[in-house]
Amino acid sequence: MSKLKSLLVNICRLLLALTFIFSGFVKSIDPLGTQYKIGDYLEALGLAGVVPEWVQLGTSIALSGLEFTLGVLILLAIQRRLVSKITVGLMVFMTIVSLWLTIGNPIQDCGCFGDAIHLSNTETFVKNVVLLFGAIVVMRYPLYQTRFISQNNQWIALHFTIIFIFAVSLLSLYHLPVFDFRPYYIGQNIKKGMEMPKGAKQTKYKTTFICTKNGVQKEFDESTYPYNDSTWVFVDTKQEVLEQGYEPPIHDFSITDDATGEDLTEQILTKEGYTFLLISPHLEVAQDRNFGNIDGIYEYAKENGYSFYGLTASTEQGIKHWRNVTGAEYPFYTMDGTTLKTVIRSNPGLVLLYKGTIINKWSHNDIPTIEELNAPLPMLTIGREPENNTWTKILAMILCYILPLVVLIIADRFLAWSKWVKKREMWLKEKEEWLIKHEQSTKLYQLLKRKRQMRKKIVAGNWKMNETLQEGVALATEINDALKADKPNCDVVICTPFIHLASVANVLDKDLVGLGAENCADKEKGAYTGEVSAAMVKSTGAEYVILGHSERRQYYAETAEILKEKVQLALANGLKVIFCCGESLEEREANKQNEVVKAELEGSVFHLSAEEWKNIILAYEPIWAIGTGKTATSDQAEEMLAYIRSIVADKFGKEVAEETSILYGGSCNAKNASELFSKPNIDGGLIGGASLKAADFKAIIDAWKK
Ligand code: PEP
Repeated sequence: MSKLKSLLVNICRLLLALTFIFSGFVKSIDPLGTQYKIGDYLEALGLAGVVPEWVQLGTSIALSGLEFTLGVLILLAIQRRLVSKITVGLMVFMTIVSLWLTIGNPIQDCGCFGDAIHLSNTETFVKNVVLLFGAIVVMRYPLYQTRFISQNNQWIALHFTIIFIFAVSLLSLYHLPVFDFRPYYIGQNIKKGMEMPKGAKQTKYKTTFICTKNGVQKEFDESTYPYNDSTWVFVDTKQEVLEQGYEPPIHDFSITDDATGEDLTEQILTKEGYTFLLISPHLEVAQDRNFGNIDGIYEYAKENGYSFYGLTASTEQGIKHWRNVTGAEYPFYTMDGTTLKTVIRSNPGLVLLYKGTIINKWSHNDIPTIEELNAPLPMLTIGREPENNTWTKILAMILCYILPLVVLIIADRFLAWSKWVKKREMWLKEKEEWLIKHEQSTKLYQLLKRKRQMRKKIVAGNWKMNETLQEGVALATEINDALKADKPNCDVVICTPFIHLASVANVLDKDLVGLGAENCADKEKGAYTGEVSAAMVKSTGAEYVILGHSERRQYYAETAEILKEKVQLALANGLKVIFCCGESLEEREANKQNEVVKAELEGSVFHLSAEEWKNIILAYEPIWAIGTGKTATSDQAEEMLAYIRSIVADKFGKEVAEETSILYGGSCNAKNASELFSKPNIDGGLIGGASLKAADFKAIIDAWKK
């Protein structure tokens, strides 16, 4: 089951990671395109003009970078819990946005994959629902994600990724997008891009005519239009798409001379030879730093018989402003602003056409200098279409980012492996030495064995927040009956919620099964609404109390100081304390388990007197093994329990340590109990889930008989 869970989590995680990496990357390499999309959203929300353009651009770079980085964090399983929560938050937000797009259709294309892939709003919504499901699965079981890099080195991968993606964004902003997914790529013949292939499906429209007569408004279609009735006065037309046909990649490229109203598209696109197009959607905000080079190219074009036109969506005033600032003498023609923004991601940008084919493009930062234009274009490299260098760019990305990351991961894994091997070797050596020492001295061995036999063997159940009163009484009765019929070989305790205690006490045979609570208050008595004191627990007939359980530390913020108070009150009221300690997965992976456990014991129980200590039972419960189905191996548990016994010995002396019962807890069940209990330092188990079924619990108790 847990294998299946792990497979599902890792599939979902891979799906999320690859989607985020791809969509973050294609947006990061086109920061202006993403900014324009943010502008579309603001317009749809009625906020056009409210947010300054530089804020939109900053948001575009930050959001795309965040998406890419998040994808890498998911892929490498870095900060699994936090990242999985952020992912769900993001996916909830994106799903809501795509639902709004699907219902209201305020924007045609959500822009989630930049210009690389266009999805309809419904497709986007479905995609987001699937990803949201995946994100929820990963958030539910974040620790099932297999790690590729140890915690110590995660920060390197994180910082490297952030630097890489922002560098790519800024590079694309300064020059042009590293990869060009728009239909105006180098090598594209614009006229060809506008052609409809033979037999392609045409878009079907429905036109509605609105007419009025005597104040009454009516709609007609082409067949019902009142051609012969002049009493109807035409008001307006409406057009809607009935059936979407094929749309050529370029469908909105149209150049107009505003002065004459003439359409110059055909003339410019069929021109023999070279044509320079200076593209600026808005001349008022265009970057004028390089106007010297632009004017120089215009002069060069005139001298060599090439055409040079400015294309803009600005008004006459904007053109005048540009001419005043730059001294431009070249003609300006008009084109749709969105088309201009699509042709080149730079304002202004320069495009070189040869017989209507785009053979080069430059951002305003890279405009060729006069010195570079020292011969006619056919003799210069910039006059020829550059070779397709997509693979070179992909290789550059691999060398600059993927390769160093892979090297980091390999180095990290190798280091972790060699550490593990070293530790294992040391442990085996210690174990061997221990065995030799102890087996050689039979006397000492016998003594230790006897000591171990003297220690109480205990199996304690922790019901947690399960079972109603009636169910609890029935379960306790069943356990009691089973043990009456087949006497246990160890002490048995069941720890129940407060409300069960008194009733369960009535059905238990005290000599067979001890009763305990799962908690008690850190105050003696008084106005502490909802609390249950140690004295109250004791008055129900209970003899034990579990304190320091990781679930109480984690969910109820029980600190070492609070637990110290609880322990003190429990002992003062004659209760035996089952005191829990254990490390989280992160702490174990950072090899801090000994330090954590020692601090927990020092913080709450090591202050006790030797007399008080007699009523302490310790339970080592690694948090990563509780309720997860992941048991610590018997060697791992033994190693830790031996360590705990050694620090108890340091504090209270060897003899007391040998008499202290130390239990293991964490997914202990009928299958693994015997193996765990066979270890010299493991004196029994604290059992959660498996204590809720009498048969399972009994099978664990019976492990002491093997
Ligand atoms: C516990 O919470 O004490 C415990 C050991 O739980 P489980 O056996 O379910 O892992």
